[in-house]
Amino acid sequence: MRRALVTGVTGQDGSYLCELLVARGYEVHGLVRRPPVAGPTPVQLHVGDLGDVQGLTRLVAAVDPHEVYHLAAQSDVGRSFEQPELTQATNATGTAHLLEALDNAAPGARFLLASTAAMFASSPHPQDEDAPVDPRSPYGASKAAAHRATTLARESRGRFAVAAILFNHESPRRAGTVVTRRIARAAARIEAGATDPLELGRLGSVRDWGWAPEYVEAMWRMLQADTPADLVLATGEGHTVAEFCAAAFAHAGLEWTDHVLHDAALDRPVPDDSLIGDPARARSTIGWQARTRALEVARLMVDAEREALERPRR
Ligand code: NAP
Repeated sequence: MRRALVTGVTGQDGSYLCELLVARGYEVHGLVRRPPVAGPTPVQLHVGDLGDVQGLTRLVAAVDPHEVYHLAAQSDVGRSFEQPELTQATNATGTAHLLEALDNAAPGARFLLASTAAMFASSPHPQDEDAPVDPRSPYGASKAAAHRATTLARESRGRFAVAAILFNHESPRRAGTVVTRRIARAAARIEAGATDPLELGRLGSVRDWGWAPEYVEAMWRMLQADTPADLVLATGEGHTVAEFCAAAFAHAGLEWTDHVLHDAALDRPVPDDSLIGDPARARSTIGWQARTRALEVARLMVDAEREALERPRR
């Protein structure tokens, strides 16, 4: 049986990826920061710390994974401006520590990093794998370092190590602070009678939003490839935050401009206005293509928020 070690199992992508791996017959192990409060899961959970190379080495030796998916991160871009050091320690140093533990105890394990479009400059776009690296946030900078550590593990150590360059991908499991969740939740709440407006930062920012379960499928495919390659995972379509709002609110029978306000205090300190990916290489090398596009993502997320609102009343 193939064994996978996944970090970040409690997050959006980690949860979908674990489901996929379990369904494909893997023995799945997850690294968590604290003991779980819920009952047993099909994933074997291990409490550990990305700051502790010795502990990670022991974990890796015990699990002896064939594949390692490193998804754990301080993934909140806004928070990274407030806590740059913590972001760097978790995302950059944490990745270096995990790679060192793999060198110590699992030299043959394949490794995937959840890298990000946030390491790229806003233009030119669409951004492909060779786009200029010019991060606009401490988060992007920390991930650019993790990305480089991953390519170095491949180039200097010969490890099958790849970086999935993830453009935004969403789902009802997205963190509640993320703009797409906030928009979907507000649309569903206002449809149900709430009256408070939704305040957002830059409404003209362009993002390439896909559907998270499709992206974890691509991560899995990246580790099954014959040769290791870093790949952009994206839909290839850009939409403004305003367009995402329009789709979500229209799905709830509402006009978004009646309910959404721009609050300049929520604008990012350094704008990164246009992140649109070019997924051509992923299509040609691993046969992957995003199917669900941004405006459909908005509608699916409103449906999920509606269901969540109705659940307690049943
Ligand atoms: P998420 O929902 O925010 O999940 C982050 C995960 O990382 C959680 O399981 C969290 O655990 C864990 N974590 C945070 N700090 C940690 C630490 N110090 N030690 C160990 N674990 C820690 O993120 P996601 O949306 O699933 O994203 C998965 C990965 O893809 C992340 O690396 C993110 O940066 C990257 N990415 C995501 C997107 C996107 O659109 N979703 C785009 C580009 C890149 P706790 O439950 O303990 O907090």
